Amino acid sequence: MDLLLLERTLCERGEPAFRARQVWEWTARGAPGYDAMTNLPRALREELAAAVPFSTLTVETERESRDGTVKTLFRTADGHPVEAVLMRYRDGRRSLCLSSQSGCPLTCTFCATGSMAFGRNLTASEILDQALHFRRLSEIDHAVFMGMGEPMLNLDKVLAAARRLPDLGITHRRTTISTVGWLPGLRRFVDEVDEPIRLALSLHAADDELRSRIMPVNERYPVADVVAECRRQAEATRRRVFVEYVMLAGVNDAPEQARALAELLGRDHFKVNLIPYNPTGLFEGSSREQIAAFRHELERARVPVTVRLTRGRDIEAACGQLAAPTSRRAPSRSLTPAAATGGDAATRRTAPTRAGSRPRRRSPRRRD
Ligand code: SAH
Repeated sequence: MDLLLLERTLCERGEPAFRARQVWEWTARGAPGYDAMTNLPRALREELAAAVPFSTLTVETERESRDGTVKTLFRTADGHPVEAVLMRYRDGRRSLCLSSQSGCPLTCTFCATGSMAFGRNLTASEILDQALHFRRLSEIDHAVFMGMGEPMLNLDKVLAAARRLPDLGITHRRTTISTVGWLPGLRRFVDEVDEPIRLALSLHAADDELRSRIMPVNERYPVADVVAECRRQAEATRRRVFVEYVMLAGVNDAPEQARALAELLGRDHFKVNLIPYNPTGLFEGSSREQIAAFRHELERARVPVTVRLTRGRDIEAACGQLAAPTSRRAPSRSLTPAAATGGDAATRRTAPTRAGSRPRRRSPRRRD
């Protein structure tokens, strides 16, 4: 719901100030539409339905994974695709993965979103409407800004949305904003955000040479600067910053790379989350043994570490697999890097391997 349009419409009708709050309270608690808002005069409900669309997004497709994960493809009013995911865990947690942009202007080589066309920043209402959609399906209690896009490139809108999430049942402590380390936004986040919103850094390599190869953004904002900024956040909030590290076979998963990572991060300020690679076409995921060995090295160095549970891989809803078709005529399936941008992807992407080993191309549609 476009909350600015709502306020303007109510104001033009000469409605009392509390009306906007009433509408928001119903909406945040999962009301299916204006009709359910029984403390609003019927005529007003009808007028709102005509003047203020109940959501800024329309649902185009929705798929449910065998593990209960739901992935929804939305469209903005001007036709941009946006994907978001609801993850349901056995312990009862209901976690949302929200998008901050349609597509992503960054070109991380392992991530499918980076290979689709970048659309634009989302508005705060478009971000919130993703969450509200799932709130109408179920209770929700966690949110991560780990869908499409780079939150620090759209920080004001991301924060405006995040600040309303508690009304939907998601406290700030259960909200995480993830970044590649886009320093202008990251610095502002560290300096300006007082709420206990968690920060996560997508690191994926401890040295500049490798990180620049797999994440071109590193050329602009190198490892040492980004990690220093995250350390500043950890010190200021006394809460660890999560470090995401996707495990790519033969690229960043050697034990000596784990030791370099431990050296870089130290024991006190970070918690590493090892992410099994979800197939997007270009790489091979590390084996379980390799992940276990990498984890062991970090544990030996007393760096807190967990391995992320993979959810929704069978419906391309897992980390890095969000890549919606950009036109309505395109197939409604996740696209491979090559398919998403034609020849462009091939020229843009270099083979980012360690010491001469070539990445083995695997079928992007292969299921584990
Ligand atoms: N742009 C922000 C927000 C997206 S978060 C960021 O990068 O932090 C999405 C997370 O999934 C990031 O940590 C990203 O690096 C990771 N990811 C991307 N592609 C992946 C893949 N194919 N398999 C597993 N994780 C992936």
